[in-house]
Amino acid sequence: MAEPRSRLRPVAPIGGATRLTAIFGDPVEHSLSPAMHNAAYAALGMDRVYAAFHVTPPMLAAAVRAIPALGIAGVNLTVPHKERAVRMVARLSAEARLLGAINCIANRPGGLWGDNTDARGLECDLEALGVGLGRGLAIVIGAGGAAGAAVLACLRRGATEVVIANRRPARAGALARRLGARLPRTLRRTALKPRGLDALVDPALLAEAAAILNATPMGLTSAGFARLDYARTPRGCFFYDLIYAARPTPFLRPAIALGRPHADGAGMLVRQGELAFELFNGVAPPAGVMRRALWSRLGRR
Ligand code: NAP
Repeated sequence: MAEPRSRLRPVAPIGGATRLTAIFGDPVEHSLSPAMHNAAYAALGMDRVYAAFHVTPPMLAAAVRAIPALGIAGVNLTVPHKERAVRMVARLSAEARLLGAINCIANRPGGLWGDNTDARGLECDLEALGVGLGRGLAIVIGAGGAAGAAVLACLRRGATEVVIANRRPARAGALARRLGARLPRTLRRTALKPRGLDALVDPALLAEAAAILNATPMGLTSAGFARLDYARTPRGCFFYDLIYAARPTPFLRPAIALGRPHADGAGMLVRQGELAFELFNGVAPPAGVMRRALWSRLGRR
């Protein structure tokens, strides 16, 4: 069906000098990053375009080698490439080394530069939402790449203790050890505690929680969310789902019903995207443009 005329945007023609930026993922068709980045190019009148490439794991190395060969200015990486791609770039930012994962590759004269904007994106969003974790306890659900970023963002927002609750507790333990060993001096006096998902029904733990963050695809790829005793959390406990959707996610719905403060990951997506845009293009996107593009796609005002 044709898109209504009022929603059509003028698209700059692709010419001989147009430079490409992109996202590699598997799957990638659902990605809203092209909408955000292309809106910023249009607003700045830049002769650049951002495309989505479906890159499967066996093709990742070839796709990364194509970045300098094709003069692609920068590439975002999404599931499942963030950890493997670390070994495919010439240099890494301190943040990427700390997280052991990259979500951005910038094509620099000295070689490919790997960076990670996920933790800073979440940290900026929590700050904008007024969520400070002032020496409190945060519970991060999950132990993958996004969970590492969430743990780091919580520590930078002031949490002194983070419980990493994962389906496979051994993976939570591995993340706690890896991050704990690499944390900068300023964050070393914090405690990272691995647990299983039983932590989500532990009344003593929940009663202390300043924030609970979902860093798993639960609710996106599965119908519901793990058992969590929402009513045991304090009234001010903040619920953040790294998943974003047009409607409240299964993780957030019970928190909303109890009147707990909450947000989904759309704001994080915008802010990690703004940081990536500046990394790829050497110029910041105009304030609010990427956010408006995403909000429009999600049917929000
Ligand atoms: P990942 O590396 O694949 O990690 C997935 C994690 O979720 C693992 O800890 C896994 O547990 C757990 N998990 C998966 N399915 C589960 C289930 N059915 N029940 C219980 N636990 C389950 O993925 P990721 O890269 O960390 O991403 C996680 C989520 O964050 C994704 O939904 C992604 O879209 C979102 N994200 C959002 C943003 C944003 O900007 N808003 C940025 C990055 C990521 P096991 O270890 O036991 O397998």
